[in-house]
Amino acid sequence: MKVSFLQRLFDLPLARCCPICHAPLSADEDEICSRCDSLLPRTDHLLHPYDNAMAQVYWGRVPSVARAAALIYHFTHSESSHPLYQLKYFRRPELGVALGRLMGQAMVKSGFTDGVDLILPVPLAWQREEERGYNQSLMLAQGLSEATGIPVDNHVLVRTSFEGSQTRRTRWDRSENVKNAFVLRGGDSLANKHILLVDDVVTTGATSCACAHVLEQAHPAHISFACLAFVDDDR
Ligand SMILES: [Zn+2]
Repeated sequence: MKVSFLQRLFDLPLARCCPICHAPLSADEDEICSRCDSLLPRTDHLLHPYDNAMAQVYWGRVPSVARAAALIYHFTHSESSHPLYQLKYFRRPELGVALGRLMGQAMVKSGFTDGVDLILPVPLAWQREEERGYNQSLMLAQGLSEATGIPVDNHVLVRTSFEGSQTRRTRWDRSENVKNAFVLRGGDSLANKHILLVDDVVTTGATSCACAHVLEQAHPAHISFACLAFVDDDR
């Protein structure tokens, strides 16, 4: 049988590329290439999910807090922050899903997601989502869901207000800015559930605490927190 050029082309296995640097992935590289992997400053949070620098952010602020973990540390303007900037500012939703899968694989391995019923991304204001084209926390949540098999609910937690960037605000300003920014829409489904709240970056925890306070009105059993990158002021 004569095989056309196009048939040959479609028969080629799709080349897998690193979503960060676009280099082809070798057979033993999974989500990202080994060079990019070596540049990511990973935290050790998954070894101590109940007591680490990120979990401590929620102590005394979120009564139902269970576990907390970030995949990597975030250092402003460092080479390691490149994937995060790509995800937030350069229209790379597929990078968010890939990094979410990377988080999910590590979390499954360590047992971090054991007993978690539902993954909720921190919502963006619709103005910001329109400007960016997607919610980067939802992309991470979708990757996490693919790796863990835990469903995502992107509708129950809603952001009602738009107050601009948190980046240049002081710790007190950040809390005040997001205090009343979230509401629940049909929160009955959250009662007695273990919820995993997913954000891209956690700095002071103001945004995720504001979400958790609203979620607690629905009486979940526990709230755990996951993020891609944690800014540890003490490091
Ligand atoms: Zn790479």
